[in-house]
Amino acid sequence: MYRTHTCGELRIDHIGSMVKLAGWVQRSRDLGGMTFVDLRDRYGITQLAFNMEENADLCEQARKLGREFVIQVEGEVIERSSKNTQIPTGEVEIKITGLNVLNGSKTPPFTIEDDTDGGDELRMKYRYLDLRRNPLQAKMYLRHQLGIEARKYLDSQGFFEIETPFLIKSTPEGARDFVVPSRMNAGEFYALPQSPQTFKQLLMVSGYDRYFQIVRCFRDEDLRADRQPEFTQIDCEMSFVEQEDILQTFEGMTKHLFKMVKGIELPDFPRMSYDEAMMYYGSDKPDVRFGMRFVDVTEKAQNKGFKVFDSAEAVLGINAKGCAGYSRKDIDKLTDWVKRPQIGAKGMVWVKFNEDGTIKSAVDKFYSEEDLREWGTLADAEPGDLLLILSGDLNKTRKALGELRLEMGNRLGLRKRGEFAPLWVIDFPLLEWDEETARFYAMHHPFTSPKQEDFAKLDSDPGSVRANAYDLVMNGVELGGGSIRIHNRDLQKRMFEVLGFSDEEAQKQFGFLMNAFEYGAPPHGGIAFGFDRFAAVTGGDDSIRDYIAFPKNNAGRDMMIDSPATISDEQLEELHIRLAEKEKSE
Ligand code: ASP
Repeated sequence: MYRTHTCGELRIDHIGSMVKLAGWVQRSRDLGGMTFVDLRDRYGITQLAFNMEENADLCEQARKLGREFVIQVEGEVIERSSKNTQIPTGEVEIKITGLNVLNGSKTPPFTIEDDTDGGDELRMKYRYLDLRRNPLQAKMYLRHQLGIEARKYLDSQGFFEIETPFLIKSTPEGARDFVVPSRMNAGEFYALPQSPQTFKQLLMVSGYDRYFQIVRCFRDEDLRADRQPEFTQIDCEMSFVEQEDILQTFEGMTKHLFKMVKGIELPDFPRMSYDEAMMYYGSDKPDVRFGMRFVDVTEKAQNKGFKVFDSAEAVLGINAKGCAGYSRKDIDKLTDWVKRPQIGAKGMVWVKFNEDGTIKSAVDKFYSEEDLREWGTLADAEPGDLLLILSGDLNKTRKALGELRLEMGNRLGLRKRGEFAPLWVIDFPLLEWDEETARFYAMHHPFTSPKQEDFAKLDSDPGSVRANAYDLVMNGVELGGGSIRIHNRDLQKRMFEVLGFSDEEAQKQFGFLMNAFEYGAPPHGGIAFGFDRFAAVTGGDDSIRDYIAFPKNNAGRDMMIDSPATISDEQLEELHIRLAEKEKSE
């Protein structure tokens, strides 16, 4: 037996027991007569005491232990003379009678401590060492608990976990696919699933009326900070349901997870239409931990001689409460911030509602105090508040002001860690117009059902058709999204037409699904949660990376195994792949 206890287990009532422990050397201190070693495993740290007088040999051996050596020890649990109240095992130590070095270790490239001295790159390269650190272990544990509790909840609701294939077929909709060449079928390729969407719908046709899967998905997108080329979804589908059934079921799951894993009872989730979200927050995933809703001053601001506002499609503002004291410099900085290309505003107008009741603004020339007071009324401005106004094209202005709202939320400490504000965003548009390719794209995916009352507009005004689609948003992060699906062949065919597919293309890509719809497809719908993100948000973090054991870096590389990598000429040949000369020489 390597160990009788873990390094996090021993307490005052174990005093007198003979125990065996195994783990890694966190550090050792040589005090001459005594040598102390902190032994660590994933459960905690226990202090080992080696006494020179009692056993010089052992003590000598202990002195030679380096950081991260793997050892096994034997000894008696004794009371510590100087107790450490910071750790649960801090009242005891082990008087060592036997030491066995199981394996040595090179000095690790960074310290295995809560605050490490290792930079990102180094930690990614030695991920297995980074994973030894407490903060990462805590995140892995949180993720594990979420997975277990999600399975428990879904099982209790009658869901079946069913696996769907990874080697599937490339579909042109959505993100770019990762493809896998087929050795046995020259010139043909599998694609890795962006999600199990079509398979879960087929399972509904098969009669498995409640399906889920905690499943890896693959999307070959340009990476942004919070994206990974492979990520995990809690993917779900249900038959004989309406939107309301899905919202109830998965609000229930989210509440269950927060309760079991965080001990937090979430209130009932508010709902907001997509239109409202865009109008008041300039985003389809508003952070509703705080208000600061947009106010529309377009009408009041136009026709007073200020050209910038006169020529704008929209003039929108937010009330930054208590910020009237901002200096010229503060405001200049904020103006520079909104003018950055990522935000894209051309400029910013401010109105100060001073504590003394006076009003001051950047556009005093054009507007009377009365005018400005009217804007203030719209924005519920009180003495001490600062109105920040952006203008221009409606969509761009909303987006920029949405960013500014979040920034002000940060500055004013309104986006509190540990506070959770869930929100259902519903009634998404079915389609999204793309200027570049001059065609409609499905906003969610092409299997999403239009709202029945909007069916007729599919021909006359496709852009205004709303979908039975919904997102679950938490603290401004999209945790999941889904829709009620089309289950009728003709409507699905019609949808592909609207999306610009020819009959042949639709048949070639999705014939299997449309055929299945001819064999008794039940009404169905579902949702998928981004599991990595769910874990990160629950853990109070912005980045998903530390919730994935072996993530890729921002360039999509695995720094540890050094992938992607070239393959041998023989492999290429077997796969019927000929690289262009250019790639070969690189
Ligand atoms: N498959 C969808 C997605 O990955 C989710 C869903 O509609 O259930 O976004």
